[in-house]
Amino acid sequence: MNRKELLRMADTYGCPLYVYDTDVIINQYNKITKAFSKVKNVKINYATKALSNINILKVFNSLKSGLDTVSIQEVKLGLLAGFEPKDIIYTPNGVSLQEIEEVAKLGVQINIDNLSILELFGQKHPKIPVCIRINPHVMAGGNSKISVGHIDSKFGISIHQVPHIKRVVENTGMRINGIHMHTGSDILDIDTFIRATEILFEVARQFKNIDFIDFGSGFKVPYKKDDISTNIEELGEKLSRRFNEFCKNYGKDITLMFEPGKFLVSESGKFLAKVNVIKQTTSTVFAGVDSGSNHLIRPMFYNAYHHIENISNPKGRERFYSIVGYICETDTFGSNRRISEIAEEDILCFDNAGAYCYSMASNYNSRFKPAEVMIHKGKDYLIRKRETFEDILRNQEQVTI
Ligand SMILES: *Cc1c(COP(=O)(O)O)cnc(C)c1O
Repeated sequence: MNRKELLRMADTYGCPLYVYDTDVIINQYNKITKAFSKVKNVKINYATKALSNINILKVFNSLKSGLDTVSIQEVKLGLLAGFEPKDIIYTPNGVSLQEIEEVAKLGVQINIDNLSILELFGQKHPKIPVCIRINPHVMAGGNSKISVGHIDSKFGISIHQVPHIKRVVENTGMRINGIHMHTGSDILDIDTFIRATEILFEVARQFKNIDFIDFGSGFKVPYKKDDISTNIEELGEKLSRRFNEFCKNYGKDITLMFEPGKFLVSESGKFLAKVNVIKQTTSTVFAGVDSGSNHLIRPMFYNAYHHIENISNPKGRERFYSIVGYICETDTFGSNRRISEIAEEDILCFDNAGAYCYSMASNYNSRFKPAEVMIHKGKDYLIRKRETFEDILRNQEQVTI
């Protein structure tokens, strides 16, 4: 998407606006499958929670991707988008046995991440095979807010509890058909990641009849200019070799799975916001936009960096700005950003707005959630209308006081 196209989108659909380019998604999807082309059975399950618009899910379905889901609502969205139940894996954390049973009834692959539920589920449904989520206790990346594989993490069954898993399997007669891990959100060091996969192979070996190993995600994409991203080719080469070797020893061609979210959709998205006000203070110049932490919370939530450009004045003189929102909290998108000169009503474009942006949006300050547009095969489609005042009042029961 070039600057002109983006300005046209802002003009046609208004701001604030999310725009997704499906060419980028398709390209990323092909990159992963290509990197693992030496493995016979590979399945990429797109992590729905990153960007859950049903039209985006349909794009993934058209690519023959599977779906990774974390709630029964995501499962239902996936089914509505046309996915077969067998192509959906459900990896919840801290949900009730009832919800897990409901999802199992739909024919979706269940992934269980605690021993207590595993035992209860196995007793009631010994015929339904389940995958187990293992916590290998390998730290991925440095940010503890997004790393979920460390020893005190709430995710997964500890690697040290594998003997207990085996006991549950023996006692209930249930079958473990898959082994899963998801260590966190940054794979930068391939060898560290490979070390975690070794732990997983070791676990897998202890179960007689598994169909797949799911290596989760953690693929990193660049947000800043010089950011290191996961070297997918190197990972593909090293892990494929190791995986094929495992299959040979195990005596069965099992499926290699991944469940990326960010890698597949982050770079496909742009967020467009209009500048409401320029405000000079004693220490900085603020540019305040018609959006805030209610629409794009990542910078405030976990210090994420989103590159910001002034697409209305790309050739202007560069100045330093703090880009802030209109919410009554400190909602700074970026401090001391060097951006071409900004005037009121200019359109700012935020990069990497595909993953965990719209899907984390809220109605805080009783603001409307933005509209979403998808550009697919050269055409733009409004895939979610901007909210209206009715949406704010929806489900509120008015009591006479
Ligand atoms: C969130 C999540 C993912 C996707 O993570 P990304 O960093 O977006 O690739 C994959 N698997 C599970 C279980 C998740 O919770």
